[in-house]
Amino acid sequence: MTPQARQPRRLESYVCGTWASGAGDGVPLLDASTGAAVAFIDSGGLDFKAALAHGRAKGGAALRRMSFHERAAMLKALGQALLERKEELYALSTATGATRADSWIDIEGGIGTLLSYASRGRRELPNARLLLDGDVEALSKDGSFSAQHVLTPLQGVAVHINAFNFPCWGMLEKLAPTWLAGVPAIVKPASQTAYLAELMVRHIVETKLLPDGALQLICGSVGDLLDHVEGQDVVTFTGSAATGRRLKIHRAIVENSVRFTMEADSLNAAVLGLDAGPGTQEFDLFVREVAREMTVKAGQRCTAIRRVIAPRAYIQALIEALRERLGKTPVGNPADEAVRMGPLASLAQREDVRAGIRSLAADAEIVAGDPDNPSVISGDAGAGAFLDPVLLYCDKPASARAVHDVEAFGPVSTVMPYDSLEEAVDLARRGKGSLVASVFTNDPAFAEEVVLGLAPFHGRVMIGNRVSAKSSTGHGSPLPGLVHGGPGRAGGGEELGGLRGVKHYMQRTAVQGAPTLLCAVTGRWLQGAEAREGGEHPFRKSLAELRIGDQLTTARRVVTLEDIDHFARFTGDTFYAHMDEAAAKANPFFEGRVAHGYLIVSFAAGLFVDPAPGPVLANYGIDNLRFLKPVNPGDALQVQLTCKEINPWAKAEHGEVRWDCEVTNQDGETVARYDVLTIVAKARDRAAA
Ligand code: NDP
Repeated sequence: MTPQARQPRRLESYVCGTWASGAGDGVPLLDASTGAAVAFIDSGGLDFKAALAHGRAKGGAALRRMSFHERAAMLKALGQALLERKEELYALSTATGATRADSWIDIEGGIGTLLSYASRGRRELPNARLLLDGDVEALSKDGSFSAQHVLTPLQGVAVHINAFNFPCWGMLEKLAPTWLAGVPAIVKPASQTAYLAELMVRHIVETKLLPDGALQLICGSVGDLLDHVEGQDVVTFTGSAATGRRLKIHRAIVENSVRFTMEADSLNAAVLGLDAGPGTQEFDLFVREVAREMTVKAGQRCTAIRRVIAPRAYIQALIEALRERLGKTPVGNPADEAVRMGPLASLAQREDVRAGIRSLAADAEIVAGDPDNPSVISGDAGAGAFLDPVLLYCDKPASARAVHDVEAFGPVSTVMPYDSLEEAVDLARRGKGSLVASVFTNDPAFAEEVVLGLAPFHGRVMIGNRVSAKSSTGHGSPLPGLVHGGPGRAGGGEELGGLRGVKHYMQRTAVQGAPTLLCAVTGRWLQGAEAREGGEHPFRKSLAELRIGDQLTTARRVVTLEDIDHFARFTGDTFYAHMDEAAAKANPFFEGRVAHGYLIVSFAAGLFVDPAPGPVLANYGIDNLRFLKPVNPGDALQVQLTCKEINPWAKAEHGEVRWDCEVTNQDGETVARYDVLTIVAKARDRAAA
């Protein structure tokens, strides 16, 4: 069935575990290309206070009972299930004006973000319900009082108010870190494209993978919802600066100090390097990138390039190249495969963009595209929200205002010249804070100066050149691992950025106390906490038997000059500090030949390892290795190995054990300290013997 042939549906909200339509008939939502009704939206009569209470009581409690790994597994299963039904989403997405390529960013990009967080959760977080933040802070000389920062999930609901341009990605890029943190969400998609978000939520609910209350959806106005937010809730907003500012000072948000994250308008810039004139690869890459950013999603991207800053000498060539490229972009109904750029999301949105172009025209002249007469290859030019890509040129950007102020949220960019590197940086900064800037140069000195100048004003800066041309993810693509957000005008918020995004939904708390009690709270042994020696070697114990604080103190081993010579010959590491007595003495750190650091680590392993097959399956790495004191020939090494953290992996027969490893000399001085990571079987019968 083609999207045009669909019967318009009354959208429903998913609140308190049931689907419900609003009390009213609903406002029609129109297909961006044909103007036909796709759906009706209304949320009248819904009990928003009850929705918040349901999220907190049911969803939050259930999510917090799960560990990070269990929640990561849930995200993975969900991502895989959504991929299986992606074609239904693609079919409907045409109505939003998106081409297949646009929808790939929205649908598969969104699901990819979910899967990326699933994988990060599994790899970078412990299989626990509490997250440690930073190192132990020693607060007393005798080690009896210490502190550890911890992160725990907020016990409220995350209210996600999303923009119309990416109904799927915009929802999932917020949900993934929220759920991984252990917090339930209420999603409020922008009305214009809410039918696509609603379909995706239906798919999510049908998987039954989420606990009740972990996800609620409001199609339509949020009514009095924000009146009921409390100090443990979070509001995350994407949209216009005007709405964002209004919501930020909402009484309940201010009075209850509700965390409010905002991503709003952004006049992102792309700077062409002084070295990147016509004929260079960087010039061609720049042209391609600007044209792509203008036309992907018809320029309705928060990260799109709005300001094109180029050396004055290259301006004419640049405008010519852009004009030619943009002229080859077929505009029309995205259901037509020949179309490369669809319409804007709605006629109202096109009116806003046209008004924006009129404002920009106060400072700039139109050099490509006709804002009033789009050349459309398919679709209803009268009913569809089509618009040509429009390129403007502003000759005096230093004294202009509108080009740095007005975000025409469509296929619109303004080219502006600069005469010096400082001027290029100054122009980019006139955006007053943006999500992203890019610099196209092959000159390291230019890249360094421009990036240092731009970074404080941007959440992300991309450097483009010939080397990264094939692998670059591009100016406009936010990535799960990279920060998405910007200071000032861009809203001041931050999303994604790997685990940074998860922590936005958690509370950081400094916990102080005696080491043994801190260890009980955090699940991680620390110096000064109780430990148990004796009995079976800790390497003989499975995860089920091992306890945090199980400790082994080894015999001593004397390091001889022959050992050092042998290690040097065997490994090939004949650095003078190990081999040449006079040269070593001349070194400010040593009094003569010293043992290799890796010899110390190797001897330490020889001292603490229990060799027979058993529950310990593999050595998995070392963290935080420091050599703290030189080891001279004749020194006697001893190791104290303490089980520091036990991390059973979900859906596996084994898990990770972190051991505190302290190597001391005959005087009890610490010569090396590090964490040894091993993989250990959960049960003895799963062990290697
Ligand atoms: P809006 O700010 O109007 O809407 C954004 C979201 O806020 C929508 O979900 C909207 O819902 C909701 N909303 C609006 N008013 C309220 C309210 N009083 N209380 C609670 N929620 C509210 O932006 P649009 O999406 O309409 O886009 C308008 C402009 O915003 C664009 O032209 C563009 O300039 C900018 N924009 C910027 C983006 C960015 O990331 N930089 C992304 C998208 C847009 P509803 O749709 O139901 O009104």
